[in-house]
Amino acid sequence: MNRKYVIGVDIGGQTSKLGVVDARGNILSQSTIRTDTHEDVQLYVRDLAAAIRDLAEHVGGMSFVRGIGIGVPMGNYYLGTVENASNLKWGGEWKGSIPLAELVTRETGLPVALTNDANAAAMGEMAYGAARGMKDFIMITLGTGVGSGIVVGGNVVYGHDGFAGELGHVVMVHEGGRQCGCGRCGCLETYTSAVGVARTARQLLAESEQPSLLRSVDADAITSEDVCKAALQGDAVAIDIFNFTGDMLGKALANFVAFSSPEAIILFGGLTKAGDLLKKPLMEALDRYVLSLWRGKIKVEFSELPASDAAILGASALAWEL
Ligand SMILES: [Zn+2]
Repeated sequence: MNRKYVIGVDIGGQTSKLGVVDARGNILSQSTIRTDTHEDVQLYVRDLAAAIRDLAEHVGGMSFVRGIGIGVPMGNYYLGTVENASNLKWGGEWKGSIPLAELVTRETGLPVALTNDANAAAMGEMAYGAARGMKDFIMITLGTGVGSGIVVGGNVVYGHDGFAGELGHVVMVHEGGRQCGCGRCGCLETYTSAVGVARTARQLLAESEQPSLLRSVDADAITSEDVCKAALQGDAVAIDIFNFTGDMLGKALANFVAFSSPEAIILFGGLTKAGDLLKKPLMEALDRYVLSLWRGKIKVEFSELPASDAAILGASALAWEL
C-alpha cells in the first residue's frame, strides 16, 4: 500500500498546527497557519488545503497520504461538523453548523475524520504521552478555553450526539459567576482557562493595592504568561491568582472523578508551565473535596508531549481509522 502516511491537524482559536505522521507516530514534518485571519471558513479551508499539500510533498505527494484527522473545538465526530464554536470566528453561509470534514475533503480529495480538540489530545496522550498504557483517564486542556477528553475502557467517550466531554462548561459558580462565551455564567472555563487566569489577575489587582510585578503591565493586556512569570519570581499576587485557579480546578476535578473513576487526570496547555504553583493548590482542593474512596489515589500529571504534538498525533490517530 502506497498510502502509508496521515495528516493530523489541530485547529485552535488563533493558529492551526498540522503535521504529516507515519504509522509509528513520528511527525515527519509540521507547519502552522493562522486560524483567525478569515471569517469565511471556505477561505480558511483553502489555506489549510494548500498547507496540507505542502506537507504531503515531504513524503512524496498526496498519493502517499491515506487521510486527514482533525481536532477542532466543538468538532462532532459523528457528523464531521463544527457546531457553534465560540472561540472560532467562522460565520458565512453555515452559521451554527459547519460541515468542515466535507469541505476539507472537497479541497484535498482525501477522506477526513474530525473530533473535538481535547478528544484528539487525549488520543495522542494515550498513544504516545503521559497516559500510555492507561485505559481510564480524563484529559483536561487549559488553553484559550477549557476542554476535556474522557477515556473509559480505552475508548474516547462521545456520547449519543458526539459532544460528550464539555467539562469546561460545568457551572462552578451559580450566583454572580463570570460571563462565559457559551452564553451562560460561572462555567469552569471562565476561571481556569488562560483567559480566566487573566480575568482573575485583573480582579485581584483591582480589589487591593498590594504591590505586584503585574502592576507594570497594562491591566487590559495582562496574559496568563505574565501571571506565570510573576508567580515564578515569587510575586505574592500572582501566586494568589494560581492558588485561586488551582483551588477552582481541584474542586471541579473532585467531581469529575466521581463520574468515571479515572486512573489519572492529565493536564495540558500553557498554564501547566506554572508547575507546582498550580498543582499544589489543585491537589489540596482535590483531596479535600473528593469522595474518600478515591482520596490520594488519583494521579494528576502534566502532559509529556510538546504542546502541538499531542493534538497533531491524536488527530492523526483518527485518520488511520479511515
Ligand atoms: Zn460556558
